[in-house]
Amino acid sequence: MTDAPVAFLGLDPETRADLFAAIPGLHRWYHTQGRDLPWRRTTDPYAIWISEVMLQQTRVTAVVPYYHRWLARLPTVGALAEAPLEEVLKLWEGLGYYSRARNLHRAARAVVEDWGGTIPADPDAFAALPGVGTYTTAAVLSIAFGADLAVVDGNVRRVLCRLVALEADPRRAPHAAALDRLAQDLLPVGTAADHNQAMMELGATLCTPKVPGCSTCPLTAVCSGRALGDPERYPVRRPRTAVPHHDVALGIVFHDGRVFIDRRPYGGLLGGLWEFPGGKVEPGETVEQALHRELAEEFGLRVRIDTALEPVAHAYSHFKVTLHPRLCTYLGREPRVGEGNPWKWVTPAALEDHPMPRGNRKVLEQLQRSRGDDRTTPGTG
Ligand code: SF4
Repeated sequence: MTDAPVAFLGLDPETRADLFAAIPGLHRWYHTQGRDLPWRRTTDPYAIWISEVMLQQTRVTAVVPYYHRWLARLPTVGALAEAPLEEVLKLWEGLGYYSRARNLHRAARAVVEDWGGTIPADPDAFAALPGVGTYTTAAVLSIAFGADLAVVDGNVRRVLCRLVALEADPRRAPHAAALDRLAQDLLPVGTAADHNQAMMELGATLCTPKVPGCSTCPLTAVCSGRALGDPERYPVRRPRTAVPHHDVALGIVFHDGRVFIDRRPYGGLLGGLWEFPGGKVEPGETVEQALHRELAEEFGLRVRIDTALEPVAHAYSHFKVTLHPRLCTYLGREPRVGEGNPWKWVTPAALEDHPMPRGNRKVLEQLQRSRGDDRTTPGTG
């Protein structure tokens, strides 16, 4: 154990020793109470890597079907490296945070090119792959190769904050570094695979944000948050800032039974996904005015707006949008390439083959539900 950063947590050596002594009980609890999840039945570093990336920001129940589908189609890092990016994004569609899929694809190509298709077990080499940070490195290398690297994700951070009753924002220096150090201190050498999963499991199933199950927790005897009577108080939260909201006009433009879609630039939010054209409604504009302006500016499209569909609300990590979809009829002029975005006309059935953002999918589902109406039937415009 080291002293310097952990000193910020105000832990005396005796308390730290008590915490460490309770860890074998945590491991026993994990072996008897841990969930049977598909990625816990393998030591294949590729499969574990895929699961860890999918699980970031996403619930376990949502990930399981994606994990199976992905491995059925792309069972090896070589298969991922060879797959077209569009297929990778399609497999990821609905999981959100699409940079994760693009980075996995780039990283797989790097593994094939630089490491002959073998995922490197060396932390520095693995961490140098695209999209791989401290968390992913510790999770994959500890679980697949037993590397003695402690994982600190949101669940583990919550457990640690409660164990030591940390009265400060755990994401800020120096407390973030101190918690990383504490996590590493509590990892018994040679147990990393089980230990990390046990800590994450505890945070996911017992030490939950609300109503933690302290009475059955294997660490209850050494938990300061529990001893103080209000474990839910930890981690100390930052004051919430208002989430920005945007109204977005969206055009579903029909022409000869086909629909216009364009592909978002690879570098940005939802990069590489196909979507219906449109853009933000500026102050003082109506949805219709914004749509005409955006379609003209971006693609030189001239349309007649026929029908308004129901607004669709969607939340991203740092902002919210309300999409205002409008069914439109194309009135001529060839679309031009706007800001480098490729575009094309596709049949409504072919939209299923294109990776699209979830908000656009919600619009599409609404469109499909209303297909009995002539004005929403593709090809009538
Ligand atoms: S005793 Fe309660 S607060 Fe402490 S680690 Fe266990 S579940 Fe979390």
